[in-house]
Amino acid sequence: MAAHTATSSSLIFIVSGPGGVGKGTIVNALAERDPQLWLSRSWTTRAQRQGESDAAYVFADRATFEARIAADGFLEWTDFLGNYYGTPTPEPVVGRDVLLEIEVDGARQVKALHPEAVLIFVLPPTRDEQQRRLRGRGDAEQKVHERLQKALDEEPVGMALANHVVVNDDLERTVTEMMQIIEHHRMLR
Ligand code: 5GP
Repeated sequence: MAAHTATSSSLIFIVSGPGGVGKGTIVNALAERDPQLWLSRSWTTRAQRQGESDAAYVFADRATFEARIAADGFLEWTDFLGNYYGTPTPEPVVGRDVLLEIEVDGARQVKALHPEAVLIFVLPPTRDEQQRRLRGRGDAEQKVHERLQKALDEEPVGMALANHVVVNDDLERTVTEMMQIIEHHRMLR
């Protein structure tokens, strides 16, 4: 992140992991529990799902997204299964730590720019549970299949980059473990 976009004492926490591990639920719970965390809102060109909150993303068309890329308006962006996803360059967040929920290629980019960023990689408790969660979103079977395959590809890459690996077998326990990790890094700051 450019020097003007955050105070030098801001930490960056990246929550990443393969599809169907519950990353979105986890980061919402973290942000709710800890007001010092500033949860970034991503942009995507993916169509909004039925029932998905308007606040889940900034839903943009490809031309608008590409214009923002050209204007250097993203901290990171990637093409994930045919759609763009990106983190807008964060605004100043004095006294708050940045929380990102992104896939593995984006996590790699942020770690390259900010090696001190803390990457927490989330794994599903079982493949069955992961499939159940991916299917529960109402996507077409073909899309579910693509996402499962992508998840298998992402896992080893993310594991190699991660500072911490957490298995999301129970939301409450996972969030508590992550808060402990976050507090630990704040103490080291
Ligand atoms: P979904 O379509 O399920 O909402 O998201 C697909 C994947 O994109 C998920 O792994 C999600 O974490 C990731 N993602 C969401 N926002 C961003 C972003 O801003 N940048 C990157 N690189 N990935 C993102």
